[in-house]
Amino acid sequence: MDAGTVTAVSDLVAALTREVPDFPAPGIQFKDLTPLFADARGLAAVAEALAEAAAGADLVAGLDARGFLVGAAVATRLGTGVLAVRKGGKLPPPVRSEAYSLEYGTATLEIPADGIAVAGRRVVLVDDVLATGGTLAAAKRLLEHAGATVTAAAVVLELAGLGGRDAVAPLPVHSLRCC
Ligand code: AMP
Repeated sequence: MDAGTVTAVSDLVAALTREVPDFPAPGIQFKDLTPLFADARGLAAVAEALAEAAAGADLVAGLDARGFLVGAAVATRLGTGVLAVRKGGKLPPPVRSEAYSLEYGTATLEIPADGIAVAGRRVVLVDDVLATGGTLAAAKRLLEHAGATVTAAAVVLELAGLGGRDAVAPLPVHSLRCC
């Protein structure tokens, strides 16, 4: 990808992100990427750029829920399948689970324990927004416990100053825009 394309993708992300102050809680600046994903050029540009960042993986893990959208689009370009990493309680048993901390309390990520061969796969994690990195870190642990090698993380938008990259270091993290 040349520098011009990188700039174009980053600009598209910026132009088609809706900023929602104080959602879902006071003080949070929510980045709503719905307009980006609903735009044909935006979705294609994001999928293409993230697929390039994900090169070498043989399975895409899309994180609940907006990571499902991007993850599937990336997988079709990469020529792989996509695995939905679900929030707790959505999948039928048996499941593999990984708990992680939220600001208040804990949450769980899950994948099926049966029916999909994860062991030995080279997996790239895909999500819309990287904030503290807690979600990516939990997904990484979950897949590694299942025997996969997590090769990289690829996100559309990275929020600076929240330590997201540090939470998954030394995993390479590719983002199309940082703000
Ligand atoms: P974190 O685990 O803190 O990196 O949070 C990342 C997850 O929460 C991603 O799945 C995002 O979709 C969501 N998220 C966190 N912060 C925001 C934000 N400011 N705007 C939009 N989504 C966010």
